Amino acid sequence: MEETLIYEELALIRSTVKRFVEKEVVKLELDVGSLAEELPSERVALLKAKGKQMGLWMMGAKNEWGGAELDLFSRVVLMEEMAQHRFGLLNPAAGAFGRELPGFLKRVNNPTLLDEFINPAVVSGNGCFLALGEQAGGFGYDQLSVTAVKAGSQWKLNGVKKYVPNVEEADFGIVLANCIESEQEEAYRPTLFIVPKNLVSYKEMNMLKDIKTYDITFEHTMLSDEMRIGDVGNGLDFVQVWLDEEQLLMSARCLGIAKKAIMLTIDWVLDRTVFGKKLAERPVTQGMLADSEIELNAARFMVWNAAKKITDGSAQEVDAGMAKAFATETAFRIIDRCVQIHGGMGVAQELPLERWYRELRIARLELMSTDAIKEKVAQTMLKRSKGVVKV
Ligand SMILES: Cc1cc2nc3c(=O)[nH]c(=O)nc-3n(C[C@H](O)[C@H](O)[C@H](O)COP(=O)(O)OP(=O)(O)OC[C@H]3O[C@@H](n4cnc5c(N)ncnc54)[C@H](O)[C@@H]3O)c2cc1C
Repeated sequence: MEETLIYEELALIRSTVKRFVEKEVVKLELDVGSLAEELPSERVALLKAKGKQMGLWMMGAKNEWGGAELDLFSRVVLMEEMAQHRFGLLNPAAGAFGRELPGFLKRVNNPTLLDEFINPAVVSGNGCFLALGEQAGGFGYDQLSVTAVKAGSQWKLNGVKKYVPNVEEADFGIVLANCIESEQEEAYRPTLFIVPKNLVSYKEMNMLKDIKTYDITFEHTMLSDEMRIGDVGNGLDFVQVWLDEEQLLMSARCLGIAKKAIMLTIDWVLDRTVFGKKLAERPVTQGMLADSEIELNAARFMVWNAAKKITDGSAQEVDAGMAKAFATETAFRIIDRCVQIHGGMGVAQELPLERWYRELRIARLELMSTDAIKEKVAQTMLKRSKGVVKV
């Protein structure tokens, strides 16, 4: 049914990616065994070479930079396939297609930023990290403690960013800071800057079992004005573009994991006999499977709809957030049911379910948490309403 919604070429690429993940990525994971915490770099390098040959390297990056330049909707459709393996939620397709750069970098035309940072990151596929959140709370940027104070032709950065992932792997960073041009100034001017890795001081914070994030400290870090992305004060416009894209790509990864978990569970219930009866024959199990399939389809349509609207330029402020809240909560519920149906095996490390359970728990709070999204949705509804409801 899904194929009728997407154009022919995308459907073809989608089956190519699906085959690649099943034949190459899943095989590699089986070779290294279920207890491995990472994949051997020489095998990953081979996968990356294949990803390049397939013409799908850096799917969101411009053609002129060496990327595949696919629109957000196409990337969301493909991402669901790329995520369908053990490490798929955090490292889709084992990095075979490179680590995406934020879409707003396509607006950059400063030759220094392009030559020194963006083009090399497209070649390496290592991506960049985004240091946005702070101690005061995740993604509500009505205040920033990290400041960039004007010092001649440069900016002096001070302050701490929290929970930033991919710092070690990335080629460079992007930081959101409040620009202050003179001592007396009180205006709020959130602005993005590119930061070279050698200017960043960071401290590791291990989260759950598999995720590392870093606190990044700026102490009188000097940046030239050339490192600024966009105008002073318009950083939040760029952040919103990134957040919308990232929420939908993350949702697609969650859908992929949920789909794979349902497939594993179908195999399991057909095989497992409990007290003289196959699990597949038990109405309770059937109900859990059916609920999972129905909810997965509903979530996919929400995610695709939001991605299509963003691609067409017709999205409302909260479309991506609503899809992210629904997709992450749905995927978590589905994994929870799959764990339940697997019994003890559901939490054994031999299967990927326990890993996905832990990782999906984070997806519900990463980027904007479900609660923060709900608050924003409610505020938008109330703002839209023209007055007291008449009954
Ligand atoms: C694995 C991981 C990766 C991350 N990646 C990045 C990254 O790349 N760049 C980056 O800058 N940050 C990143 N973060 C930070 C992430 O965005 C924040 O952790 C997240 O936004 C939640 O903020 P917080 O941890 O400060 O929790 P808090 O904001 O303190 O939230 C605590 C509680 O308050 C609720 N809450 C928060 N705001 C509202 C609201 N408006 N209305 C109602 N309830 C609310 C939350 O739902 C939660 O229940 C990452 C975090 C993790 C765990």
